[in-house]
Amino acid sequence: MSACIFCKIVAGEIPCKKIDEDDDFLAFHDIHPKAPVHALVIPKQHVDTFADADDPAMLGRLMDRVRRVAEKLGVADAGYRVVINVRDGGGQEVYHLHAHILGGKRLPF
Ligand code: AMP
Repeated sequence: MSACIFCKIVAGEIPCKKIDEDDDFLAFHDIHPKAPVHALVIPKQHVDTFADADDPAMLGRLMDRVRRVAEKLGVADAGYRVVINVRDGGGQEVYHLHAHILGGKRLPF
């Protein structure tokens, strides 16, 4: 069994507040939101970090999914931020590739 917390969410072993799902991606609300809207979009297949992702097509589909989730969350028109933290220097805490969607208010830089 994987020790990765996001793999456990994918496997249904840890609950999440699901927003969207298909065969390859899952989107859910961040457990500690840093903005009124704070969602995470992850590939179901485990990849440690953005820097480790060796499938450009998957990264493209991840970004397309981010855009669709932002629309679903109602932040697309007002605007939002997409963040991918990479390794320790980027503040990455969970080593399973994920994109943050932050919105619902005007964000300071
Ligand atoms: P990062 O620092 O980019 O690795 O972000 C990891 C994010 O995952 C943080 O914003 C956490 O609040 C979030 N997180 C950790 N565990 C969970 C969980 N079980 N459900 C939802 N979000 C989580």
